[in-house]
Amino acid sequence: GKAQLYVDNAPSEVKELAQTLTMLLSRLSQSWEQEREFVSNVSHELRTPLTIVHGYLQSVLRRQNNLTEIQQEALETAASEAERTIRLLQDLLDLARADSGYLNFQMKSYVLNDLVEEVVVMAQKYSDRLITIESTAYPIEVKIDYSRFKQILLNLIDNAIKYSEASTPIILKLNQFHDKAIIQICDKGYGIPLQHQTRIFERFYRVDESRSHATGGCGLGLSIVKTLVEGMGGSVSVQSKLGEGSVFTITLLT
Ligand code: ADP
Repeated sequence: GKAQLYVDNAPSEVKELAQTLTMLLSRLSQSWEQEREFVSNVSHELRTPLTIVHGYLQSVLRRQNNLTEIQQEALETAASEAERTIRLLQDLLDLARADSGYLNFQMKSYVLNDLVEEVVVMAQKYSDRLITIESTAYPIEVKIDYSRFKQILLNLIDNAIKYSEASTPIILKLNQFHDKAIIQICDKGYGIPLQHQTRIFERFYRVDESRSHATGGCGLGLSIVKTLVEGMGGSVSVQSKLGEGSVFTITLLT
């Protein structure tokens, strides 16, 4: 439109510059596209055999009851590492898909209160941490993609558990404000220093490698959460105080 008009009437140097810039941009976007495709292909190719390896390990662990303690431990470690890597690959695949606009969402209406309770029951299968729900209204309607929503909430609950002491509770607060549904995941854990708070949603970003290392993540969880929440038309933010705890707030449309 207007920019093209300027370029057409500009001196030849400016025209050349504009053409060069256009060409560079198109090359750049091509190489981004190639990188995304590469990540996506590699993730996919690695995930398939790893899933098979994991399956075999599980079946040996289930069927063999004459394993020595050392064998048992070795197989369990191998299986859990395979599982962690499969999850990482799935995350990379989701992010690559989101980047290229291929992540699709099946949006439907649900009662948020019931949904959150369902996810908590699921989370309690992996952890015996006390997780309580506090709602200010019932029913709070939300429009979300069911499996993506579960993924988001499990990710945030998982973090709340990982980055706090076992004796502290996790509280999920549900609110409605005009046409917005608000979910807050609150922990009384280690907290996040202010200067890191905006960066934790970046890919592979972790606050404290030494402390985070033991918890076995790789810094992709929150970038997935952000991508998925925004993909459903919502937003996510954090409030945290070092040594006191963190609150992750998800806002969704009703
Ligand atoms: P991961 O947990 O795999 O490291 P995430 O993307 O989920 O990756 O989180 C990024 C970083 O943000 C974590 O390494 C941790 O330092 C910090 N973090 C996330 N959630 C919490 C929380 N509830 N309390 C304190 N720190 C957190």
